[in-house]
Amino acid sequence: MPPAPETAAESRTIDKIALPGRDGVFSLTLRDGIVSALTPSHGDAAWLALPSFANLHAHADRAFTVASFRPRNFADAVAAAATARAHFTADDVRTRATRLLEKSVAHGVARMRTHTDVDPIVEMRSIQGVLEARAAMTGRIDVDVIAFSTSRNDLADPNAVARLRDAIAHGPQFLGASLNSSVEPRRALDALLDLAERHDLPIDLHLDEHLEPAQSLAGLVADAAIARGLQGRVTMSHLCVLSALPPDAASTLIARLAEAEVTVIALPETNLYLQDRRSGTPLRRGVTLVHELLAAGVTVRFGTDNVRDWFFPFGDGDMLATAQSVTIAAQLDDDAALIAGLCDGRGAIEAGTPADLVLVPADSLDDALARLPAGRLVFKQGRQVAGLAHLKS
Ligand SMILES: [Zn+2]
Repeated sequence: MPPAPETAAESRTIDKIALPGRDGVFSLTLRDGIVSALTPSHGDAAWLALPSFANLHAHADRAFTVASFRPRNFADAVAAAATARAHFTADDVRTRATRLLEKSVAHGVARMRTHTDVDPIVEMRSIQGVLEARAAMTGRIDVDVIAFSTSRNDLADPNAVARLRDAIAHGPQFLGASLNSSVEPRRALDALLDLAERHDLPIDLHLDEHLEPAQSLAGLVADAAIARGLQGRVTMSHLCVLSALPPDAASTLIARLAEAEVTVIALPETNLYLQDRRSGTPLRRGVTLVHELLAAGVTVRFGTDNVRDWFFPFGDGDMLATAQSVTIAAQLDDDAALIAGLCDGRGAIEAGTPADLVLVPADSLDDALARLPAGRLVFKQGRQVAGLAHLKS
């Protein structure tokens, strides 16, 4: 374990800093919420400095609900979740969501976007519990709550629309839905976009989390976004089907996504775990076309997706582990693109940048990805929110 950084009343200086893509070792000073100085130093690197991580696709309301679970297939996971979610209370959602937020802070996650179930099974209990957890963590992690109309709340049904409208009254930052299971996806999409426009909320969809080209809805959503002037207001999470399309069809669709200024969230861990799940070894792995999306100018970000629930029984909210999965599953070797996906577009730490950063006890990005070390020092607006020195103070 490297030595803890010096502490001063108004500023803090940390020595032996490594930076991705830069040779040498640096000394980093934080003052007044920014990186006030970054100067060459000497010796061996002890800390890799990265911008704070952003987990742009989580399910805090469902986190830590299973100790051990293996679904037979995707539908089996949905069914098991529905059975268990019937017993959720706002209190237990708050407790589990808080646990995920606490762990996320320790890993260096400064922002989370969490899909929060809205359906006849949990009614408003999930959103109530998540909002309470969010309030309790103010100042340590920024949480965007998505009112997520699940596959059990088909927005083609006016009663489901009314339920999502009730959820909007709780003050979410995004609207979400799972459109592929709708009996009438176009109608469900229109209902969702009507609500989004009326309440001036961006949307983040669970979209095309499957490998059947005939069932793809991404083009429909992109067209609707363009027709309504909602460019830049739509995020699509998953898009596994891109990997199952013929190359020409994938290129055409990706160009449409770029025109709609869609953000795509790649979620390799749950996709590898759930896609093509059957009795034998999976062949079609379902990771969206990260390279091709980036090459077309589409913004690509990452998220953990599920953490220890029916859809994924592992993990604890560590976005560095997700970045490692991206490098393995998508073979994304471009460090700048990897860091942008991990840190919501932020790049290298420089003098003058916000003091929202994580110091990983590692001497390089590859060392950090190799070992996923604990003991990180995490700063938010210059204030330490996690790490050993924090615990001592
Ligand atoms: Zn999800």
